[in-house]
Amino acid sequence: MAKLNSEAKLIFRVAIAVPIFRLFDYLPPQTNPIAAIGARLEVQFGRQKTIGFLVEIVKHSEFPNDKLKQVLRVLDEQPLLSAPDLQLLHWASRYYHHPLGEVISSAFPVILRRNQSMVPTEKYYGLTELGAATDSLQLKRTPKQKAVLEMFQANHHPFSSSALCREYKNWRAPVQQLLAKALLTTQSASPSQPIDALIKQDALQCNPPQQAAINAVCEGLGQFSVFLLEGVTGSGKTEVYMQIIQAVLARGLQVLVLVPEITLTPQLEARFRQRFAVNIAISHSKLTDKQRCNAWLQIQQGSSAILLGTRSALFTPLKNPGLIILDEEHDASFKQQEGFRFSARDVAVVRGKFLAIPVLLGSATPSLESLHNANTKRYQWLPLPERAGQAIAPVLQLLDIRNKPMQEGLSNVLIEEIKKTVAKNEQVLLFLNRRGFAPTLICHACGWVARCLHCDANLVIHSHSKQLRCHHCGKEQPLPDHCPACKTGELTALGLGTERVEKVLMQLFGDKTIARLDRDSTQRKGSLESYLEQINQGSVDIILGTQMLAKGHHFPQVTLVALLDVDSGLFSIDFHATEKLAQLIVQVSGRAGRAEKQGKVIMQTRRPDHPLLTTLINEGYHCFAKTALAERQLAALPPFSYQALLQAQAADDAIPQNFLQTVLELAQHINSSETQILGPVPAPMARRAGLYRYQLLFQSSQRRSLHHLLDELMPKIEQLKQGKKLRWSLDVDPVDLY
Ligand code: ADP
Ligand code: ZN
Ligand code: ZN
Repeated sequence: MAKLNSEAKLIFRVAIAVPIFRLFDYLPPQTNPIAAIGARLEVQFGRQKTIGFLVEIVKHSEFPNDKLKQVLRVLDEQPLLSAPDLQLLHWASRYYHHPLGEVISSAFPVILRRNQSMVPTEKYYGLTELGAATDSLQLKRTPKQKAVLEMFQANHHPFSSSALCREYKNWRAPVQQLLAKALLTTQSASPSQPIDALIKQDALQCNPPQQAAINAVCEGLGQFSVFLLEGVTGSGKTEVYMQIIQAVLARGLQVLVLVPEITLTPQLEARFRQRFAVNIAISHSKLTDKQRCNAWLQIQQGSSAILLGTRSALFTPLKNPGLIILDEEHDASFKQQEGFRFSARDVAVVRGKFLAIPVLLGSATPSLESLHNANTKRYQWLPLPERAGQAIAPVLQLLDIRNKPMQEGLSNVLIEEIKKTVAKNEQVLLFLNRRGFAPTLICHACGWVARCLHCDANLVIHSHSKQLRCHHCGKEQPLPDHCPACKTGELTALGLGTERVEKVLMQLFGDKTIARLDRDSTQRKGSLESYLEQINQGSVDIILGTQMLAKGHHFPQVTLVALLDVDSGLFSIDFHATEKLAQLIVQVSGRAGRAEKQGKVIMQTRRPDHPLLTTLINEGYHCFAKTALAERQLAALPPFSYQALLQAQAADDAIPQNFLQTVLELAQHINSSETQILGPVPAPMARRAGLYRYQLLFQSSQRRSLHHLLDELMPKIEQLKQGKKLRWSLDVDPVDLY
């Protein structure tokens, strides 16, 4: 805390969420000249009032004091972020070369970022001593009150109003009556007593590898270390998480659990709620701002013990941090691809270091980066080599479809297998990573192809909506009925999308229920959840879908999985592509036979000898990863080198090119030749949404020299006048070179 005294004029240095790489100086407010580092401040910025974050208090400003505005109001008496978390945000701003104001702001829920009001506090309700001792049968004439009392007695922890809404719809009246009877009491802030780690359901008896993993992490509690749990699908990773979480809760500490996809939160939430009688907060982008703010405050104030969320929950401050878990750590959704481009996995690891707590990364198909870190002993490797319980690993098989008769992407052999499986009342899962009807519309007479006017891309045929749609900029147009070029030619759909496969499945299996799961069919809120429920109830026979199916959902009754076209993934120019394809194949395969019945996985290919496929099938993902890492090492690609990608785009072709040329010259001036600079070249997709895109790739064998270069370069780029005429961005450790 710093007090203003009239002799020494203190200056508040404030971070504001604008894309500018500097802090802004203000004079302390007159009314309340006390503030702690990290506090939110209301300030006048240009013509508007906005929220800033106090970063530093200094004695001098480079601007004359009479030019400085006064802070309007100090919003937080105590900063809402802890000192290690503020350090983390400073680190992230430096590492990703992103303005500090935007980075700090991203740690707050939208309401606290924008709304000028003070922190709202939720009301909590808990049992009084009398309430705890009262036999609920005494309330048998008022069943609602009885039910609410029993819920409190069964859970032993206070409930916030939002938690009550979730547990019991019409809670307000009975809670009021129980308050009147002094069986319940309210607390304005969070309860400060340690969290009771109450276990509702007994843990499973673990197999030895599970136990070894649990022991390793539990021995490491209270200090920083990183664990990589590599467990084949169905090996019981979630059980391992839960037993470790139990140990953390028993110490009165909190756990942050991150998953890549919103749709994965309900199933994990359900398992956690079955096991633990603690408050669990949920945070992801489909919740309202108010719900997310409440979740944030519950964790920040310590009234929830577990936070389950997606990437955006990463920075939520934990009152009593104990452990960070990142499930499906290989998933590209952990990388934020716009604005503040960060990897939630990498930042989670650094956060663990600042907070001095362990970080547990889990996956059936770990990223090559994490495996490399395990190989070099930076991470501790915890393998779970077998499926848990009674489940048996599926049989994988390559199906050579060269010269084989096909019906819309389905070979006759596969059709027979599907028939056999559905005849046994077992489920089939078909995977094709392309939505729409077909990726190309071509004229049979003149060869005209439907292209997007704004992107370097073909338009995709969507037959349900009778449209041509660009999957890159979203532009749509009606499906033409004759060729716009030669006016007479017949138009033909080339290639395969999920809608097309769905059509042939309905012809072949008209009496069976087919569910198509892709971004088009699950757009309506709740539709994916309802599909998943139907599948689990066994009312669906054939599931057809895109990569949505690879995301860790459980389909226990599926015994046949088929990947219709693995070849299209084999020939990408991005070096990450083989890793992603292998992960996709293994993840989709893992959906087969998760219960007692053994599953079968069929991959249709015209390249049955491709080394990626044969290694993966004969020797498994871990061996594939070893080979892939050796190749990366030979080619000096990440994780054996470090990259940053500078992208620039504008409506005029020359502008981004010239801009990057200027940047290149600036960089060559600074560079000590340890960092290679490649480009400027057009991006692999050279035009998107009407903008021409160019890029410059920095690559170095030394992380330090890469960052040294960027440290000096970025302020210079910011000064460039050319930069005002275009959009540019820097992506450190890019995972998508498009
Ligand atoms: P993963 O997260 O690795 O896919 P899960 O934790 O979901 O695996 O476990 C798969 C199934 O195996 C679940 O139904 C789970 O209850 C069960 N399971 C996990 N561990 C054990 C165990 N030690 N004994 C018996 N069943 C187990
Ligand atoms: Zn034509
Ligand atoms: Zn387009």
